[in-house]
Amino acid sequence: MTYMPDANWDNVCFILVGTTHPGNIGAAARAMKSMGIRRLALVQPKHFPCAEATAMASGADDLLADAEVWNSWPDALRDYAMVVGTSARQRRIDWPAMDPRHCATEIARLATQQRVAIVFGREHSGLSNDELEYCNATVRIPTVPGFSSLNLAAAVQILAYEIYLAGLVRADVHGRSPAVLKTPRASAEAMLQFYAHLQQTMTDVGFFDPQKPRRLMRRLRRLFNRAALDTDEVQILRGFLAAVQGRGLKVGSGSTGGPSINSKCPAV
Ligand code: SAH
Repeated sequence: MTYMPDANWDNVCFILVGTTHPGNIGAAARAMKSMGIRRLALVQPKHFPCAEATAMASGADDLLADAEVWNSWPDALRDYAMVVGTSARQRRIDWPAMDPRHCATEIARLATQQRVAIVFGREHSGLSNDELEYCNATVRIPTVPGFSSLNLAAAVQILAYEIYLAGLVRADVHGRSPAVLKTPRASAEAMLQFYAHLQQTMTDVGFFDPQKPRRLMRRLRRLFNRAALDTDEVQILRGFLAAVQGRGLKVGSGSTGGPSINSKCPAV
């Protein structure tokens, strides 16, 4: 099989959250580089930059030099149309979970046009449920029962390999002409604004009590993240919310923030 990538790996970013051991950051960079993925972002790493990270990168120190470092988790995600969280555990809440191969196929398809993030958690505790709420899906690498937690860089290697492989398969099937998505997926930032608008509207109409939130917003985030909304669909929903709020269709002046949206629903 000839390597003719039609996916744009510049659109794929691996985000490591709260990494404790700098050696894992270096080993992750090495794993990524071997599979052609070069964009690395770090959210609140315990030690970085660090000689141990550079040593473990073993020639992938250019990825470390270019790595983005973020203090805030939501800020790190704003530009992505798809955010995939990785987790070793089955979660109490039933997040939409993919296996690595299915996930990589989806990433290789989407990355031809939009930015995608794959997020990895802390060595000891993984990603929190709150952090997973920002993800469109979770991926669990299958393991034998009872021993599911891989080393962070090993998990990075498996996902990077699957994405590389999915790129090869796409190249074989599609040559160099990627399938064009008619409407781009909504960015994570657009989804954050939508959730804020949804919560505000539900509060306005007395459906949601911020004093007793229970798990309503989490369940709704899970529902809409699973749907992988495109930009038109978010616009339709926000137009509807604005109509429910009874303040016309112009969004952006109230507490929900966000840009103004077109008052007309796009053709559906
Ligand atoms: N004790 C943690 C495991 C952390 S391992 C937990 O229960 O979640 C560090 C990170 O490596 C995880 O947050 C995840 O990003 C990745 N990882 C490890 N094993 C994995 C697996 N089987 N599937 C998917 N990701 C895994």
